[in-house]
Amino acid sequence: MTGPGLPGDLPDGSPADLPGGSSGGLPGGSAGGLSGEREAAGTRAAPGAGAGGALVIENAYLVPVTGPEIPSGHIVVRGDRIEAIGPGPAPDLPGARRVDGTGCLATPGLVNTHHHLYQWASQGFARETTLFEWLVALYPVWAAMDAEVVRGAAGAGLAHLALSGCTTSADHHYVFPAGRGDLLAAEIDAARAVGVRFHPARGSMDRGVSDGGLPPDEVVEDLDTILTATAEAIDAHHDPSFSSKLRVAVAPCSPFSVSTELMTESAALARDRGVRLHTHLAETLDEEEHCLARYGVRPVDHMEKLGWLGPDVWFAHAVHLSDADIGRLARTGTGTAHCPSSNGRLGAGIARVSELLRRGANVGLGVDGSASAELTSLAGEMRQALLFQRARYGPAALTARQALSVATLGGARNLGREAELGSLEPGKLADIALWRIDSFAGAVADPVHALVLGTRQPPLARLLVGGETVVADDELRTTPQDELGRAGVEAHRRLVRLAGERGVPPPAPSPSPRP
Ligand SMILES: [Zn+2]
Repeated sequence: MTGPGLPGDLPDGSPADLPGGSSGGLPGGSAGGLSGEREAAGTRAAPGAGAGGALVIENAYLVPVTGPEIPSGHIVVRGDRIEAIGPGPAPDLPGARRVDGTGCLATPGLVNTHHHLYQWASQGFARETTLFEWLVALYPVWAAMDAEVVRGAAGAGLAHLALSGCTTSADHHYVFPAGRGDLLAAEIDAARAVGVRFHPARGSMDRGVSDGGLPPDEVVEDLDTILTATAEAIDAHHDPSFSSKLRVAVAPCSPFSVSTELMTESAALARDRGVRLHTHLAETLDEEEHCLARYGVRPVDHMEKLGWLGPDVWFAHAVHLSDADIGRLARTGTGTAHCPSSNGRLGAGIARVSELLRRGANVGLGVDGSASAELTSLAGEMRQALLFQRARYGPAALTARQALSVATLGGARNLGREAELGSLEPGKLADIALWRIDSFAGAVADPVHALVLGTRQPPLARLLVGGETVVADDELRTTPQDELGRAGVEAHRRLVRLAGERGVPPPAPSPSPRP
């Protein structure tokens, strides 16, 4: 769809440069190029390349992730795909819309491969706890959620992700209290409103406390209910097409909350339907102890026995791996989602990302649920990944470019979409982040270093998903971001109230430190 265009998108032949564009005080709108007069917020039909015409980004520093960097180059987008990328100005393309990327760094859109969006509504609970303590504190809160909570939480969470450069996000939703509405449909609605590609993983738990699991029985489902609901979710929502903005995965929750039958039946269902498999694995030593006590083997061995290693599987966390485990993940093409902020927040340990990469295993990034990594941005996870690896392995452990590659191509591989996403290449989908590096970030000698290392990410001049503008000048252009932010606050209040009605008190303030 061809929209009226953001100022700064000019027909071919027009002067594309807008020095000091009249941004009306928008953040990031001062230094020429992409900014200009503010477009009315709330337009669902965000301007982009449209069905027929081309969109051209010029004069940007291009980091394709695959292939050499181009200090000043162009990208031609036609429809939802990248048509061409190269140095210097774009060829003359009559009717093309032009975006001047002067002072900007262009990268592929970032890909988030592990999240629990509903947890946006339960941030700030159980603040100094291990994973198991944290889960035991939060399961009764989550038991109170309904579709309204999920819709508000997912909208805020996905808007927050888009504002940190994310163009594709997975979500692992595994708590389905009975009679609370269609929670999966609620988050899918939210993803459509924000405009990012969405990979909801229909999660599940079937082993409560009475069966030796960690969760209370009130939040688990039975095997037949889970398998039926998961098959229905695939039938209703999964789109396998190249341009897909919605693909469903199958995702039993974790070794301490599911039965072996659920794992094997889920794998059979996913492979029958041609969708991917996801679960938490090797997140903490408590989990390892649980696997040894119950199954007599460590987590990766357990997965191997269940038929859960393979190129259609990606595991969240994978912190506690042996050398042999790393070899098996690499050999079988099993992916991992590295979630450094959450692992740090819960004191879980940190994944051996440098060694996984060196041995050829795939690693993507995940922000993990917001309740264990409050307000975590996906761009920020590149920094966390780099710093944690260097703290563990030394200063050459992970470069900024490796961190960017993990956040883009690594994520695309986890989701089985390396043919479509994760790099700037002709033929791939036009999911592009344009970061402004001509202000504070301009003082850093290397633009990729500036993107990855700063605690505050460079302004996001433009975020395209399939050629359509989702963010411009650090502002969401698909749905008013303040509206989504407020809906996230309402979701939090609603969940606290609903949990309170079930006898779960709100979180108490942390005690003050002793003098
Ligand atoms: Zn998780």
